[in-house]
Amino acid sequence: MLPQIETCREVSEAILDHMPVKDQYRTQAASATPPPAAEIPVDSYDIAEFPEVRALEQNFAMVREAGLENPYFSVHEGLTNDRTVIGGREMVSWATYNYLGMSGEPEVAAAAKAAIDRFGTSVSASRLVSGEKTIHQELEREIARTIGTEDVVTFVGGHATNETVIGHVVGPGDLVLHDSLAHNSLLQGAVLSGARRRPFPHNDFDAAEKLLAQMRGQYRRVLIVIEGIYSMDGDFSELPKFIALAKRHRALLMVDEAHSIGVMGPRGRGIGEHFGVNPADVDLWMGTLSKALGSCGGYIAGSKTLVRWLKYTVPGFVYSVGLPPAAAGASLGALRLLQRQPERVAKLHANARLFLQLAREAGLDTGPSGGSAIVPVILGNSMNSLRLSRALFARGISVQPILYPAVEERAARLRFFITSSHTPDQIRRTVAAMQEELARIDPAYARSAQRPVSVA
Ligand code: PMP
Repeated sequence: MLPQIETCREVSEAILDHMPVKDQYRTQAASATPPPAAEIPVDSYDIAEFPEVRALEQNFAMVREAGLENPYFSVHEGLTNDRTVIGGREMVSWATYNYLGMSGEPEVAAAAKAAIDRFGTSVSASRLVSGEKTIHQELEREIARTIGTEDVVTFVGGHATNETVIGHVVGPGDLVLHDSLAHNSLLQGAVLSGARRRPFPHNDFDAAEKLLAQMRGQYRRVLIVIEGIYSMDGDFSELPKFIALAKRHRALLMVDEAHSIGVMGPRGRGIGEHFGVNPADVDLWMGTLSKALGSCGGYIAGSKTLVRWLKYTVPGFVYSVGLPPAAAGASLGALRLLQRQPERVAKLHANARLFLQLAREAGLDTGPSGGSAIVPVILGNSMNSLRLSRALFARGISVQPILYPAVEERAARLRFFITSSHTPDQIRRTVAAMQEELARIDPAYARSAQRPVSVA
């Protein structure tokens, strides 16, 4: 129900058919004699009558009829880290990507303010023409140093980065081979490119190998797209295997590190640091500034040649404004703080391990979560997931439910984002509260609990 946040199955199915619904309609329309205006159906010109709009409205009605509140667009009245204020009430928050507590950190805020004081609130042009500022260059050097690549280019949004870069690097006659749980931005990029799109089963390296063996020869370029940490399940790819695969089949490899930069590896340098790979073995390292790096924007890290090519040609950079000074300053401040305080990453890892351990001990289904900053609690029932999230909300705990069709019904869940700011006490109390509420909402599930969590 309701707007999908991450993967969009309906859109992706249309994409799989390799012809978006709109285009099918256009093709039919082009060959037929145009109908008189009076015969054009209302659901093709009145937005309120669009079938997809009506379906959304029906979902809202269903939630209202069930006596539940819409869990989306809750209004937060201040900073969100381990806590947040909603409706005047302070709550424990498990619904923010502020993994390292960088947003709200005074030093990061000071870096953003200093950037505004020096450069203004906008760079007021594409960087290619007159928007290039020293702070862009400093930030890109710092990201490159963190990941270990030759160069970096930043963009104004993470989603936009994937769309425009994939849309540009491959095209008709090429193949995008991606994980079946790929983020919407990666799928949209593939659609924009006009390349053929093939998913492989989640994290199934052998299946990807088989597809490549069958298909590589039929395409000019093949782009393999994986993610550092997957945002629904909190698990991650076997990166060294994908590197070897890409090399064997002469394919390009792109890794989306939206949820792994700042999170994986002892110093938070991402999945490359976690596995100790040579950064040059990945063609495109993509990441966002909006999560662990306390800001907004996206980046591509890679070779000097790649970055120069993108800077001069990729539409979402060339024809768009440069990163605003405040956003660049905040990320730069966050990266510098991260370098001085790697213990933030260690704290995040310890919190995530504790959450996962307690949730497992409580008999909760945490799926394949690998102890990263994301831990799902899978209930396999959208209504119960919604009820549990509302019951926790009533107890001062904010956590987002993920419901059908964002995931399959049997995978409906609550999703916890762990941060370095959380305390062991918050973790214990949350898992205990979940157990108690589940005993009311879904006794059969709760009975599978092995032992209560101690709140001591
Ligand atoms: N890639 C992945 C894997 C994501 O999860 C997201 C957003 N959640 C993005 C890209 C887009 O990033 P942003 O929100 O910074 O635009």
